[in-house]
Amino acid sequence: MTTDRPLGFDTLAIHAGTAPDPATGARQVPIYQTTAYVFRDADHAAKLFNLQEVGYIYSRLTNPTVSALANRVCALEGGAGAICCSSGHAAQIMALFPLMGPGRNIIASTRLYGGTVTQFSQTIKRFGWSAKFVDFDDLAALEAAVDDDTRAIFCESIANPGGYITDLDAVAGVANKVGLPLIVDNTSASPYLCRPIEHGATIVVHSATKYLTGNGTVTGGVVVDSGKFDWSASGKFPSLSEPEPAYHGLTFHPTLGAMAFTFHSIAIGLRDLGMTMNPQGAHYTLMGIETLSLRMQRHVENAAKVAEWLEKHPKVKAVTYAGLPSSPYAHRVPRITPKGAGALFTFALKGGYESCVKLIDSLKLFSHVANLGDTRSLVIHSASTTHRQLSEEQQIRAGAAPDVVRVSIGIEDVADIIADLEQALAKV
Ligand SMILES: *Cc1c(COP(=O)(O)O)cnc(C)c1O
Repeated sequence: MTTDRPLGFDTLAIHAGTAPDPATGARQVPIYQTTAYVFRDADHAAKLFNLQEVGYIYSRLTNPTVSALANRVCALEGGAGAICCSSGHAAQIMALFPLMGPGRNIIASTRLYGGTVTQFSQTIKRFGWSAKFVDFDDLAALEAAVDDDTRAIFCESIANPGGYITDLDAVAGVANKVGLPLIVDNTSASPYLCRPIEHGATIVVHSATKYLTGNGTVTGGVVVDSGKFDWSASGKFPSLSEPEPAYHGLTFHPTLGAMAFTFHSIAIGLRDLGMTMNPQGAHYTLMGIETLSLRMQRHVENAAKVAEWLEKHPKVKAVTYAGLPSSPYAHRVPRITPKGAGALFTFALKGGYESCVKLIDSLKLFSHVANLGDTRSLVIHSASTTHRQLSEEQQIRAGAAPDVVRVSIGIEDVADIIADLEQALAKV
């Protein structure tokens, strides 16, 4: 859509990346359920494979429905280019893939989704990659952890399991100083609450499974590149700055500039790793994003009320919600997440582990699931589930101690959410 003035976020959430279907006029983006695309002639095919012309070849690489979603999330994050992936975890590997090689490492925040801690501390070792975990409130420690083999810095904007907001400007300052890209997982905030690129992030990753889709129907991921990093400056990113043998010697950054990372991700990453999103999933996420702003407003409003109520409850030891004035991270909210501190947080019960289990088994409206960012209110005991593979020390550092329950506050009537917690706490 072209207009003569920049469009607002809510308008982009509905219109960005999509126009009426050129073939039929269909107003909604059709689900292009096709594997391949007919070439006009042999010359057209050759140009597509040479990246001399942009178009569709095969749906492992690109698909019109999936591209519409990539373009929409790209617009909402203020990026230069984006790709969609089969899951949030796939998006993380895809974000690192162009930058890494055997022997290279990343510096990651200690405050991450439990699955990401496992992916980074265990699974990526099989690629010869490794991660060093650092408290990102300690900027000196972050800088000191960087060595000659470091290729990226990774954190979450609002860190799962909630209650913590990363000072993205400060972390980006360190990344800038050491000449490395900053990758921010913006899943728990969504671009409605936080736009990491405006705070200096190089790349933004999402689990589209969560707030972007918004109702627990899809597994998907997105990688957005800001297009602002100079991949050629340091010589540390040869796959982007030098002739790449995996794509007949193309030098991505000198040839494609701000789109180098995105084209590399499609032409090599999706082509050879195959972590592709399917068009049906992209369709559901496009539907979800149309109401992202409205949902996030209600999520935040409800979460703030529930957190305030819980903080006053005699059986509750502590509530870690950055939207509460008592939070040590409250001062970061106006700068990093100006429209609110999200809807994901934890609270600790005075009764410890046993009380947490009793509470979860007594809740009726809340669903006990390993998910977040659903319209429904969700609850989980992180220590025995999502953060189970972590040591107790890692659990505590990640904000998932054994006496802690994590909630993802939905968009139901807030009085019903509180009433459910009240009846369950009475049984504890
Ligand atoms: C869920 C989640 C992921 C992983 O996403 P999947 O879609 O489940 O693969 C990564 N980061 C955060 C913050 C998440 O909440």
